[in-house]
Amino acid sequence: MKTWITIPNESDFTIYNIPFGIFSTSSIKPRVCIAIGNQILDLVELYELGVFKDIDFDIAVLKSKFLNDFISLGKLKTVEIRKVIQLELTDENSILRQHKKAFKMQSDVNMHMPISIGDYTDFYSSIEHATNVGKMFRDPENALLPNWKHIPVGYHGRSSSIILSGQNIHRPKGQVLLPDLETPVFKPSSKVDFELEMGFVIGKETQLGESVKIADAENYIFGKVLFNDWSARDVQKWEYVPLGPFLAKNFASTISPWIVTMEALEPFKVKGPKQSPKVLPYLDYDGLKNYDINLEVSIQPKGSKESIVSKTNFKYMYWNMVQQVAHHTSNGCNIKVGDLMASGTISGKGKKSYGSMLELSRGGKEPLKLFNNDERNFIEDFDTVIMRGYCEKDEIKVGFGELRTQLLPSI
Ligand code: CA
Repeated sequence: MKTWITIPNESDFTIYNIPFGIFSTSSIKPRVCIAIGNQILDLVELYELGVFKDIDFDIAVLKSKFLNDFISLGKLKTVEIRKVIQLELTDENSILRQHKKAFKMQSDVNMHMPISIGDYTDFYSSIEHATNVGKMFRDPENALLPNWKHIPVGYHGRSSSIILSGQNIHRPKGQVLLPDLETPVFKPSSKVDFELEMGFVIGKETQLGESVKIADAENYIFGKVLFNDWSARDVQKWEYVPLGPFLAKNFASTISPWIVTMEALEPFKVKGPKQSPKVLPYLDYDGLKNYDINLEVSIQPKGSKESIVSKTNFKYMYWNMVQQVAHHTSNGCNIKVGDLMASGTISGKGKKSYGSMLELSRGGKEPLKLFNNDERNFIEDFDTVIMRGYCEKDEIKVGFGELRTQLLPSI
């Protein structure tokens, strides 16, 4: 595919991508757009040119401040809409080409939360991460609990504190049990951490009592975002028994502004790790269900340059998304358009491929060296954490852009 738009080299937003987002300007209220190169394309403008006339949908879904109504059109329509956009951007004689007003530089617009998130679920799908954490928090000999290879383990999180890249957060406070003490203190967390994750957005609802068959599960996923599940390790250590994560996790999680569709990710499907022992029949899947997505995390202290602290890949995940959808609905729990499900921390096999400071600094025992001789065990005040992700194959590139959040002191 060749587009008549100028796309900078290395851009995540090629003609193969066409991710959806919500933008505004001083004169345009938040509404639906796509990213192409370093520009955005206003889909309301495109609709008004009449290019979508063969697809039955109302312009109101594009004037909405969230993508939920657009996603609710269903894949039959949204996939077609994406194809028409690609056609308009590749056809030398397209009507869009004469309509410069439909484009804006990304640097000139504000991006907004792309979806109104109903429910949020966080999984725990990386065997490397679960093993590393199990060794540190529990038992070095039996790091994985007996259920881990049978159940795509997850928990229900909180959606109110999921924020967009670019919004800063404050260091959380909480109960911490300090070494050699028997009772906790209430204080700012001294072990604030990131978790490198990817989220997926539910694109089709189910009814209460209904279960999604694994062979059909892909139809329920609209697309993916980068996700940083901020964590307070000292709070987590004290609070997590017996019911699991709570205040150590729900103070903030950050998502990237562009939702990359499953159709854009299709060329990057790969085989997942062998699952042994064999999973139960409702979790048994056919075909390629993992995705080759390069991921990296950087830390940028205030006034300094960023240093890459981790490079890994989404393809290592032990549990895949179709298994997670099948499992989540296996008991009849209903899912809704705009629900967000996150992968859990994505760690690779090597020491430099871990998806959290907890693992990278071995619980704070081996500080990471940053640019300019800075050192980090965990995230310090005024540090910015940056995540990036992209797929690349046969000269086709599809990326997620970046996700960045600065940690400010406690208030
Ligand atoms: Ca997590």
